[in-house]
Amino acid sequence: MHIQSKLPKVGTTIFTVMSGLAAQHNAINLGQGFPDFSMDEALMDEVTRVMKEGFNQYVPMQGYMPLREAIAEKADFLYNAKIDPANEITITPGGTYAIYTALTTILNPGDEVIVFEPAYDSYIPNIEVNGAVAVRIPLDFPSYAVNWNEVRRKINSKTKAIIINSPHNPTGSILTEEDLKALASIVEGTNIFIISDEVYEHLVFDQKQHQSVLRYPELKKRSFVCFSFGKVYHCTGWKLGYCIADAPLMEEFRKIHQFNCFSCHTPSQVALSRYLTNSEAYLGLGPAMQKKRDYFIQLMKETPFELLHSSGSYFITAKYDKISNLPDHEFAVELTKKAGVTTIPVSAFYYNSDDNNVIRFCFAKKEETLERAVERLVSLKSL
Ligand code: PMP
Ligand code: GLN
Repeated sequence: MHIQSKLPKVGTTIFTVMSGLAAQHNAINLGQGFPDFSMDEALMDEVTRVMKEGFNQYVPMQGYMPLREAIAEKADFLYNAKIDPANEITITPGGTYAIYTALTTILNPGDEVIVFEPAYDSYIPNIEVNGAVAVRIPLDFPSYAVNWNEVRRKINSKTKAIIINSPHNPTGSILTEEDLKALASIVEGTNIFIISDEVYEHLVFDQKQHQSVLRYPELKKRSFVCFSFGKVYHCTGWKLGYCIADAPLMEEFRKIHQFNCFSCHTPSQVALSRYLTNSEAYLGLGPAMQKKRDYFIQLMKETPFELLHSSGSYFITAKYDKISNLPDHEFAVELTKKAGVTTIPVSAFYYNSDDNNVIRFCFAKKEETLERAVERLVSLKSL
């Protein structure tokens, strides 16, 4: 049997490849983004409790209503955004699925979507599987800031959407108020949609504010805003997230969603609906993750790596030119095999594997894991 591949250039995702290599070589895995510490016991207990209470059958296709209500309240509290939980929120099996569904909702063959590189590795395949074309714009290196003039130049009559991601994977950069205002002025009066990947919403450091598109009416009305419970509440294996969009956009999103997933895991939704009513559940997440970033930065001072800046997410990138001039993919493989520490090569986030000799570390780990990993890096002279 022969399949004419819809994604002929795509291999296995870098996260699966590097985690597989880490397991094979018994390396400390600072590659794929998942915490190795426990999620909140209170949320775990709540899931068990609600299963025993009998919440084990389908919820509506749009998601469990009290959870959507809690999300709407949180969006109002944090971003001053008025969201209708009945018509403007859909619970999805993860953030990746929400992004895919949003793209599938709006894209027709030949459409163009602006993507900033380095980009989370699902975006471009999601665009191409819909017959559309990714128009790639590199973020400035090493600040990883957006060049908005370049965005203006790349927009044309085929531009259907722009994907933004803040806090950013893999670099940890964040968009500022000026960025969002620049974007708003670029899209004003056009039919361009925004896909805003905000899965690291609460993981913003140094007292900075998360600039959700929900804060900006000009952006909100054209946006599909995608979130992940897994990423912010340290339960990535739950694969639960949601999308917020204005009612006419959400109506079309749900047409795709209802025949793909229909509805998501009930006990997690019921538990989260109760958990989210307390703002303590999310207000402490950023400072807690910042502590891990700061501890990792302090430990890494003893190594020959040069860390770049991270203002949010689980991630920080590093240059390794004092140790090696190998391409970043080879370097990451050798680092796993020889030093026993796994990272992600940042070239994996570029369509053409552009290589600035930078790797990504995930610091969302126990202190002892970070210490053990850095111990293995301190004595590294060359690779
Ligand atoms: N976008 C980015 C930038 C991510 O890093 C992730 C994490 N996997 C996702 C989306 C999707 O998260 P989820 O596991 O909820 O699908
Ligand atoms: N978002 C995670 C990362 O960047 C991984 C999720 C996945 O494995 N697809 O590491």
